[in-house]
Amino acid sequence: MKQIPMLDLRREYEYMKGDIDTAISRCLEHQQWILGPEVKELEKKVAQYLKIRHSIGVSSGTDALVLALRALAIKIKGREYFNETDEIITTPFTFTATGDAILRVRATPVFVDIDAQTYNIDPNKIRDYLVSSGDRVVGIIPVHLYGQSCDMEKIMALAQKYNLFVVEDVAQAFGGRWQNHYLGSIGTTGAFSFFPSKNLGGFGDGGMVVTNDDEIAELVSMLLKHGGKDKYNVDHIGYNARLDTLQAAVLLAKFKYIEEFNERRRKVAQFYNRQLSSLSGIRLPQTLPNAYHVYHQYTIRVLNGKRDELQRYLKENGISTMVYYPLSLSKMKVFKDKMKEGGDLKEAERATAEVLSIPIEPLAKEEDLFLIVKSIREFFKSN
Ligand SMILES: *Cc1c(COP(=O)(O)O)cnc(C)c1O
Repeated sequence: MKQIPMLDLRREYEYMKGDIDTAISRCLEHQQWILGPEVKELEKKVAQYLKIRHSIGVSSGTDALVLALRALAIKIKGREYFNETDEIITTPFTFTATGDAILRVRATPVFVDIDAQTYNIDPNKIRDYLVSSGDRVVGIIPVHLYGQSCDMEKIMALAQKYNLFVVEDVAQAFGGRWQNHYLGSIGTTGAFSFFPSKNLGGFGDGGMVVTNDDEIAELVSMLLKHGGKDKYNVDHIGYNARLDTLQAAVLLAKFKYIEEFNERRRKVAQFYNRQLSSLSGIRLPQTLPNAYHVYHQYTIRVLNGKRDELQRYLKENGISTMVYYPLSLSKMKVFKDKMKEGGDLKEAERATAEVLSIPIEPLAKEEDLFLIVKSIREFFKSN
């Protein structure tokens, strides 16, 4: 039987083979593996693209979050880390790394529920928490889940009113926009991931911190190389968290295609929207009018407790799907006793039981897409 994966990275490589092979050969020639010329070039290109002053390559999206938060602790608190009484608001419906980064800088995550339409953190619930018990909150980490912008207008207005930093988790939304602004350039800082399956992905781990704040940029560049301007005489508790030259070279080659590929994802999403809109057993992704959604995932909501059954049915028909995410962060052992719940988390709970991401392959063949929608329709005919 024909197998349809979530994403076919080999197909992508073949599409860009000339660019990627040339980029890698160039590294083999110059041999500057640590902070080589490609890292600088990628930083410059990304900064220009996002229209932001600073862009700093780092070793992963997780490290981008940790480094951004560490720099903020140093800048705002004048200490290496936050402490337990410093609260950072985020969503419980995200990849573990978002919440884990808060623990790693020793602050307390406050989980606030999501909006049922977009699956992103609900700004009204952020406001409720700030009004009722917000005096310890230092910042917000909005996550642009599945490639769609959070309501940045409302979030930035709250941040301004309560004097909070905003670290955008842009791991899933490279090239996504809110109105005319690229995501990552709206908050105090943005944290990107170049994990292979992300919209802009390397051949291994990588990430980036972006900011318009000179002091934060300088701190992040120090922290990623052991904590000083001079690695033999350091000021802060640092990391070895550089972006590899080789990854930067691959990313530069792939960066040429990012707008095209995001458009391709949007086309696949439009196809699904048209083909699946008549099914009453599912809810299609909803987009905010101000958001340019880059569909890192195309995620449907399966009603009436049928999610797992649909997933099994599709698997039997050779179609891969994924549940992002099956468990809310607030239910994980690592956060137990270390987090707060900022109100009930009912929508996040419901989402963990109902969401299903189906293949969104930028280079998808039409016949494969038809096969996917046909199988989903067949499932609902007999269910
Ligand atoms: C992938 C991802 C991360 C972490 O990025 P890595 O590069 O894998 O460390 C953080 N947050 C979200 C929302 C992600 O999807």
